[in-house]
Amino acid sequence: MEKFYITTPIYYVNDKPHIGTAYTTIIADIFARWHRLLGEDVFFLTGTDEHGGKIEKSARDKNKTPLELVNENSQKYKAVWEKLNISYDKFIRTTDPLHEAAVQKFIKKVWDGGDIYKGEYEGFYCLPDERYVTENELVDGKCPDCGREVQKIKEEAYFFRLSRYKDAIIKIIENGLIIPKKNANEILSRLKGELKDLDITRKSVSWGIKFPFDESHSVYVWFDALLNYLSALDWPDGKLFNEFWPADIHLVGKDIAWFHSVIWPAMLLSAGLEPPKRVMAHGWWTVDGKKMSKSIGNVVDPVEMAEKYGADAFRYFLIREKPTWDDGDFSESALKSRINGELMSDLSNLIARVLTIAEKFSGKIEGNKELEGFIDKNKLAEFFDNCDLYSALNLVFDGIRRINKYVNDKEPWKLKDGELSNVLYNALEAIRITAIFLKPFMPSTAEKIEEKLNVKYQTIPDADFKEFTSRVHRGENLFNRLV
Ligand SMILES: [Zn+2]
Repeated sequence: MEKFYITTPIYYVNDKPHIGTAYTTIIADIFARWHRLLGEDVFFLTGTDEHGGKIEKSARDKNKTPLELVNENSQKYKAVWEKLNISYDKFIRTTDPLHEAAVQKFIKKVWDGGDIYKGEYEGFYCLPDERYVTENELVDGKCPDCGREVQKIKEEAYFFRLSRYKDAIIKIIENGLIIPKKNANEILSRLKGELKDLDITRKSVSWGIKFPFDESHSVYVWFDALLNYLSALDWPDGKLFNEFWPADIHLVGKDIAWFHSVIWPAMLLSAGLEPPKRVMAHGWWTVDGKKMSKSIGNVVDPVEMAEKYGADAFRYFLIREKPTWDDGDFSESALKSRINGELMSDLSNLIARVLTIAEKFSGKIEGNKELEGFIDKNKLAEFFDNCDLYSALNLVFDGIRRINKYVNDKEPWKLKDGELSNVLYNALEAIRITAIFLKPFMPSTAEKIEEKLNVKYQTIPDADFKEFTSRVHRGENLFNRLV
């Protein structure tokens, strides 16, 4: 059986889930559902990143222990994913003792290979970002990422010989590790410069995994976090690891593509492991034309959107509104017009119209398969293989518009007997197949369509024109017009 292992980044437990994290997780969920429909063995991993000085500080501010804080906050992520119908197989937390043990084992392996040495880190540190900043990265003496004050630090640290893997990494990226190409090119051009070794421990942070060779150091949060992709599979001896490694897709926002496509493969090579097959970097969202920020007050709460418009409509919008790689803008008015236009007029009305007639028709439903191929199955699979969910979803909705045109042209309300049976057959079979292709994107809508058609558990092999024998039930509209 084919296997498919997909991951989201583990989210920083101190942040609130927002449209960006929801977008990444929804994309991962769509892939996972698609590959399950193909009959593959799927492992979909998400989770939370729970160590570091920032958490220690924020727990102190709230009069809590770090563990209390991360226990509470990781639950919030789980609750949001439930609302958005995210079908993950495992939720990993970096405070899980099994993860901590795996990190220490991994470090021993890299140490034994001679890739860790003691040195001195000198530079700047942005506490809120937990990011080391070099002198020439400073912007007006401040953090280049957030513009806040940085602290000057000089401390003993252990380093990972990242530089040793430069040529190997370039080769892996040239062989197609990163999707899309524009991000691959950005990273390749950065790799033309010097690739410095990476400090992987910190002395001043106590809320972290102890460095096994020197307990006065904690493992740098990034090194710790990346290893979740292995520890979740019970590396090194787990059955899951044997089956699922290497990862098929690591999903990332483009800001962390460097960590996943340079540092992470180097770590794996150092430990004698295969690098991931693909790292997919997606674009970002602005909100009402502005960068999302707490101070503007335009942070989109995915739970609020799901409660107001339904999880499926929100999922649909995020995939439909912009090409997967590009940046795009979120607004509630755009979301509403997609619901009124495509979900209500194209999808919901079509099904209501066809089922109203079909419910009253008492003859045998059979016909000539003239709508066969209304959605090109191979093309759809190709879009998924190229990680182009935007085009995949558009292809499905082009198919829905073809059914609409067919029904409008044939005017079944004027037909009867054999002619009517033929039009109903074609429309109903096309709708049944549409439900299968909608499953990854809009799982509960797809399920509702299946209920109306009285069919169940359909997968990709069912997506061909067959006999139509079930009794249909029109029921309620899938979507209603919003004002
Ligand atoms: Zn910063």
